[in-house]
Amino acid sequence: MMENKKDKYKYFGAIHIHTLYSDGTGNIEAITNSAKKAGLDWIIITDHNNFDVQEGIINGIYVIKGEEISPDYGNHYIALGINKLIQPSDNSQDNVDTVKLNGGFGFSAHPDESDIRKNSHRPLKWTDKDIIPDGIEIWNLFSQWADNYNSKNIFTIAYSYLFKQNLITKPYQKTLEWWDELNNKNKKIVPAIAGSDAHEFKISKYIIPVKVLSYEYSFKTILNKIYLKEDLSQNFETAKEQILNAIKNGNNIIANMSVCKDIPKICISNNNTTVQCGETLKLDNNTYIIVECKRNTKITVVKDGIKINTTHSENLKLKLSESGKYRVETELNGKGFAYSNPIIVED
Ligand SMILES: [Zn+2]
Ligand SMILES: [Zn+2]
Repeated sequence: MMENKKDKYKYFGAIHIHTLYSDGTGNIEAITNSAKKAGLDWIIITDHNNFDVQEGIINGIYVIKGEEISPDYGNHYIALGINKLIQPSDNSQDNVDTVKLNGGFGFSAHPDESDIRKNSHRPLKWTDKDIIPDGIEIWNLFSQWADNYNSKNIFTIAYSYLFKQNLITKPYQKTLEWWDELNNKNKKIVPAIAGSDAHEFKISKYIIPVKVLSYEYSFKTILNKIYLKEDLSQNFETAKEQILNAIKNGNNIIANMSVCKDIPKICISNNNTTVQCGETLKLDNNTYIIVECKRNTKITVVKDGIKINTTHSENLKLKLSESGKYRVETELNGKGFAYSNPIIVED
């Protein structure tokens, strides 16, 4: 993103992308071209039960591969940091464990897809909330669009394609609550990601053939902005480690860039230091959570799953007097905008 390049060590990327190796319609050449047009720095390909796509710096985009471990009935699991194909098990706990055994980490994909879809698409949600993933995909672009896609008649169908941005609202409350619950049970941060679930399905049954959420559209919509401590390396293997570590540690903000391109700055500072999403600092008499937006934004601060402050403003500086996990949700013009990973404030 050009205007944000001044912002040091912050890199935009899309996670959860399908290619021709599974049910996507693009090859890596086309997908990286779309990512370039959208101004992304990195992408993570996660084909269903496939690990064949090429990695590396392609068309100037860092391309990392993972896998969407996809049992037939749902419980899809976005596996990152693995270096070989993992066969899906019907037992989701096995999938979570196998990813860990292989040195990777994973995210529950589209965990709360709607059961009452207005179309024929079968929901593939995370059915057993007692099985604890390493992290959660709190917002999935394609899944939310499909949940709200209305196949009732030609007008509702046309609306779903022409006004697709109206079908993208905000992360589901149920998912956010599950995420908070897991964070409350865990000492460390349970990280969250945004998933594009980009396929660019091509449908030719209508008078005009249509692309369903093109790669380029997907890459301009729900994204992850990661925070690093230094420049992203020119060396692919080093850069891959930097990106994956940032995601694993929750050093990212999730945002719908079609709402606004200026992602809010969210940090917590005390007498000694300032930290970003996914980091930890000590509580002292001068600890503040700071949110800086470019426009009047609805800013909500959530502590240990409880909303403690909601403000409509460009900026928020809130003094903190208790330890806990703090995260920020923002909405702009009634639409979900940017969601931070938690920051830990300890005694
Ligand atoms: Zn899936
Ligand atoms: Zn998918």
